[in-house]
Amino acid sequence: MKSFRKELHFHTKTRRAYVNITPQVEAALTESGIRDGLCLVNAMNITASVFINDNESGLHHDFERWLEKLAPEKPHSQYDHNGYEDNADAHLKRSVMGREVVVAVTGGKLDFGTWEQIFYGEFDGKRDKRVLVKIIGE
Ligand code: ZN
Repeated sequence: MKSFRKELHFHTKTRRAYVNITPQVEAALTESGIRDGLCLVNAMNITASVFINDNESGLHHDFERWLEKLAPEKPHSQYDHNGYEDNADAHLKRSVMGREVVVAVTGGKLDFGTWEQIFYGEFDGKRDKRVLVKIIGE
């Protein structure tokens, strides 16, 4: 069995962002040379998510509005966590959107369902963040 590890780096210009990282994950898979196995992609920061959904900008605006209803960023004082920080909303948004995804690798390709793409969800950006890609198989 082969094992491959790679980190992707992000530094968004905005506090919140939704980035399609499918091309970077596909490039990592090609680099790994693995044809059959599993590909894990996880956020390495607790205020960011990796999730799978549709690459449709209207849906991304819907996610943004929905998450702001569930856990509004402001006022910062509404959260106990915000004694030293202002990112409680980002921790909550991350919990809803998830930490990681796992995609089957078949014939050297990500074995996606219909319209599935992998996204990085940033909820406390404007700083250096990381995503781990770990691929195992043969
Ligand atoms: Zn925090």
